[in-house]
Amino acid sequence: MKVSLDQDLCYGSHDCVHRVPSVFTLVDGLGAVIPGREDTGDDPQVRAAAEECPSQAITIAISE
Ligand code: SF4
Repeated sequence: MKVSLDQDLCYGSHDCVHRVPSVFTLVDGLGAVIPGREDTGDDPQVRAAAEECPSQAITIAISE
């Protein structure tokens, strides 16, 4: 499953980065998925980060 992050929705709370620093990072103060780490949507911590993102900017989708 692929994880993606919409920076247009993100307001930079940093929650996802604190929870899963191996997958999320900050770019210009906003959350971002580290390149090459998009295929981690089945990680329970990544799923929790998506569910608890205060702006619902993180999406997990079935890989094509
Ligand atoms: S938890 Fe959500 S709002 Fe906060 S930095 Fe991550 S994507 Fe942005």
